[in-house]
Amino acid sequence: MKFETKAIHAGVHPDPSTGAIMTPIFQTSTYVQESVGVHQGHAYGRTSNPTRSVLQDNLAALENGTHGIAFGSGLAALDAILKLLEPSDEVVSTNDLYGGSYRLMMRLYERYNIKFHFVDLSDHDAVANAINSNTKLLWLETPTNPMLSIIDIKAIVDRHKTDNILVCIDNTFASPYLQQPLDLGADIVLHSATKYINGHSDVVLGAIVVKDKGLAEQFYFIQKASGAVPGPQDCFLVLRGIKTLHVRMDRACENAEYIAEKLQAYDKIANVYYPGLASHPGHEIAKQQMKHFGGMISFDLKHDTSAAANAILDNTQLFALAESLGGVESLIGHPATMTHASIPKEERAKVGLTDSLIRLSVGIENKEDLWEDLKQALG
Ligand SMILES: *Cc1c(COP(=O)(O)O)cnc(C)c1O
Repeated sequence: MKFETKAIHAGVHPDPSTGAIMTPIFQTSTYVQESVGVHQGHAYGRTSNPTRSVLQDNLAALENGTHGIAFGSGLAALDAILKLLEPSDEVVSTNDLYGGSYRLMMRLYERYNIKFHFVDLSDHDAVANAINSNTKLLWLETPTNPMLSIIDIKAIVDRHKTDNILVCIDNTFASPYLQQPLDLGADIVLHSATKYINGHSDVVLGAIVVKDKGLAEQFYFIQKASGAVPGPQDCFLVLRGIKTLHVRMDRACENAEYIAEKLQAYDKIANVYYPGLASHPGHEIAKQQMKHFGGMISFDLKHDTSAAANAILDNTQLFALAESLGGVESLIGHPATMTHASIPKEERAKVGLTDSLIRLSVGIENKEDLWEDLKQALG
């Protein structure tokens, strides 16, 4: 089955008791047992819920995995992955990382004596230098947030994956429609389904997909034991969002390509970061490992101050000033003070995250309306 068909059908079946074509919201905490230990596969709502099971099966199919495990948020899913580690284990990760992931690693897990190294993952010598016998996890994001750098997933897997080291990709920015890391040799895919997968800015939810049964069993155990599960209504909404994922992504990518080119030609702008631009250093790799180039764009200004950025952020009408991304509506944000405020300024500067950097999540509105809005705000 091709992606578009799987988005609508994989794991989904009419409700056997009523024929309802849509997966019901099983709003229940427990299930009546016929006799002790005899039940229909569900015993308690933290351990399993039929609406959640359908979502998990659908997500697994979209990533070409075998098992999906859903969580109450993207960070709860990351938390579950970090729970695979033991004290003195080490993690090598990108130096351009979602701020919340950095915070969870450094503010919580470092206290449990897990060590994190943040390096430029496109620099293979730097990665090799950071790896040692304690390394258990390679943590990638691509495209990265907010610099939209592209990391060659297959090259990382080929050079650095060993029996001891799991490779995990945060695939939130690409969505499973644009990029399928398990096919490139990754072990674990993480999603903040809050973003493109749900796509309507009305749910917070996270997911892990794997294709190894042993890993899946560990994650189901963590899901049950730690209990960070999503509610059935949220699972239902994400399932509904997924049905249009490919249609939404196609339009968001088309709009973003149009806006990126317009921005690049605008004289007040210093740099436009968008992997779809031929001038982007990761353009060729992006072409190989992604279907299109995504809906996220960052740019900064020749006049590099927060005040100059604020003048734009305060003046867009269609682009709403807000955290998050991946919804049908376009958003604008200021990483230095919003999504990435938890990363120290020196660390931000190292990757080129300047005070004037502005991040766009391009939605599926009319692209000319979107450019008109940006143009008037830039003016
Ligand atoms: C939003 C986001 C997360 C965290 O997901 P939540 O659902 O907000 O917990 C993780 N990684 C990336 C790349 C994100 O954009």
